[in-house]
Amino acid sequence: MLNLSISLKHTLIVLPILLSGCTSSKLTTCQERIDNVKANTQVLADIVQLSSSEMSGRAPTTRGSLAAQQYITERFINIGAQPFYKGYTKPFAHRKLAPLKGVNLVATVAGSVFPEQFIVVSAHYDHLGHRGSTIFYGADDNASGVAMMLDLAAHLTRNPPLYSVLFLATDAEEKGLLGASAFLQENEIDIVLNLNLDMLGRSKRMYYLVSPDIRNKLRVSIESSSNTCFVYRRRHKDRSSMRYVDYFKASDHYAFHKAGIPYVFLSGAIHNDYHLSSDTSDKMRLANVSNQNEHVRKMFGLIEDLLIKHGT
Ligand SMILES: [Zn+2]
Repeated sequence: MLNLSISLKHTLIVLPILLSGCTSSKLTTCQERIDNVKANTQVLADIVQLSSSEMSGRAPTTRGSLAAQQYITERFINIGAQPFYKGYTKPFAHRKLAPLKGVNLVATVAGSVFPEQFIVVSAHYDHLGHRGSTIFYGADDNASGVAMMLDLAAHLTRNPPLYSVLFLATDAEEKGLLGASAFLQENEIDIVLNLNLDMLGRSKRMYYLVSPDIRNKLRVSIESSSNTCFVYRRRHKDRSSMRYVDYFKASDHYAFHKAGIPYVFLSGAIHNDYHLSSDTSDKMRLANVSNQNEHVRKMFGLIEDLLIKHGT
């Protein structure tokens, strides 16, 4: 997540808006439970791999980034998601990366009813790299979002979506949403909505932010869905509790917003390891990861319901 915060000194009244939609749980079948445990264990394994020393913090244009690109590409192939560009990769130039290039990774799963319309599920795979021997592992930020995006891709290859889904692992988010902006500059497809995932591995709660034009409709869907607990939040206190992180501009969904595309942003709370070398995978708990991953799948289902009901 981009380090972008608002000082309290300059904020007259900042009240977090809380709109929760929590309902009681529903029993699932034995096979579903077994499949879910397998899927969530894979999510945790992906987080561990993407935030390993080999990836060296995944800074754009580095060997660590290349290792992450290869890992994500192999996962797309194993899952059976189709390449959107040759070899799943789309390099892009930017003065902040010159003379080298950033690389977005893009895969698709075809929609069964609206194949020409796309929901873009995004998660940035880059992080801060290393400073000397200190590696910024970025397990929560954002190996966690990438791992849950991969799980959604796997889930949708088995349960085809109504709309086509484009899975976009962006590069250089931490340098200013560069990968998402580059993708949108060259975009020629009909994107109906962006679901952006960032920092989901640590938090016990799933926070969401949504475009104003669909906020009320999504809230109604959330409140009528069972076994979910989404909490609406525009701002979050950072680790010092002296500043607020503004979720609106904090991650790739802001690039979609600027392109006039509705978005839903899912994230966890800011924690003490945010943007530090201590953001490591050993801090992840399977229970929290599983809960968040299941919420990502549920949000995708709610988004499809909303688009079907209200049009695009
Ligand atoms: Zn970040």
